[in-house]
Amino acid sequence: MNQAAQRLEPSFSPDHVRLSLAAAMTLGLAQGRFYRNARLGCINLLLSYASGCKANCSFCGLARENPHRNNPRFEKFIRVAWASHPLEEILERCAQAPSWVERVCISQITHPRARADTLAICRQVRERTDLPVSLLIAPTLLKREDLLDMREAGADRIGVAIDAATPELFAQLRGKPAGGPHRWEHYWRIFHEAVEAFGRDRVGVHLIHGLGESEEQLIGAMDRARRAGGSTHLFCFFPEKFSALGERPQPDPSGYRRVQLARWLIDHDQAGAADMSFDGQGRVREFGADPAVMEAAIASGKPFMTSGCPGASGEVACNRPFGNEKPGPDLRNYPFALDQDDIALVREQLFSY
Ligand code: SF4
Repeated sequence: MNQAAQRLEPSFSPDHVRLSLAAAMTLGLAQGRFYRNARLGCINLLLSYASGCKANCSFCGLARENPHRNNPRFEKFIRVAWASHPLEEILERCAQAPSWVERVCISQITHPRARADTLAICRQVRERTDLPVSLLIAPTLLKREDLLDMREAGADRIGVAIDAATPELFAQLRGKPAGGPHRWEHYWRIFHEAVEAFGRDRVGVHLIHGLGESEEQLIGAMDRARRAGGSTHLFCFFPEKFSALGERPQPDPSGYRRVQLARWLIDHDQAGAADMSFDGQGRVREFGADPAVMEAAIASGKPFMTSGCPGASGEVACNRPFGNEKPGPDLRNYPFALDQDDIALVREQLFSY
């Protein structure tokens, strides 16, 4: 389909973008209620094209070989359907969004149009709303100059979805063996160049727990991002229907609690991977941080809340409610402050091996 014909397609970018279900509910474009009255702080937008994403990541619902791609009835991304809406309508509603909405994020897919459309949509969000904009980029089609253009277009933060914690897993799940174009070295190069362009503490790497890595390997990747001036936005693997890993079970919460605490200590400069000790299965046994700091962190519950881009309040805006689990007692990323029962549960999970 040539570009002219595609632009006339009613529901594709740049005139239309897809919206997470939580964002559609928050903007009044979908019905529904949030479990435990969670509130979404970031409006996540997703670029969309008739030909879809060119990549084929094994854990992703948008993968090229998903038989139900672009079929809103079946296709899922981060557990939910992402319906398409006119950008104009989204901009109007973002300008009147509830006060707890503190950010917009534009997520790229690997598509030749993504670079130009991201810049155009970013400029419009900045012109039409007073919300800061993050860009969740797909580095394979990008180079350093594109990051400078993104900063010029008004983005203040960048997310790099590295996802897999080791070069071997990255290649196996996102590179040639998976029928994908992505390369580990290029993703990390773009991450480092994004830190140069946007500054320290303005760039985050997305990392997924449960793709086959050990806790030690995941913590090694978090530490690499922190030492380079970035931080980690942590996800727990959830099997996306019709993806290559659609039948793989979700990892149990105990390992996730340990990498969540490790992430919090690393991103708050309270400990590094070198301070931690691991057992023969690569599980954390010692976190290497001041015991009082550890106890205060665990008692606050904050390490077990969603890690993501902050809002004007300084708190995490991108809390992705129920993006990694079904709404219910078995939460992975808490999108709200933990109560005493939650803290008792995570404490138990943290130290069960
Ligand atoms: S943490 Fe959220 S807002 Fe930040 S880049 Fe990732 S998806 Fe976007």
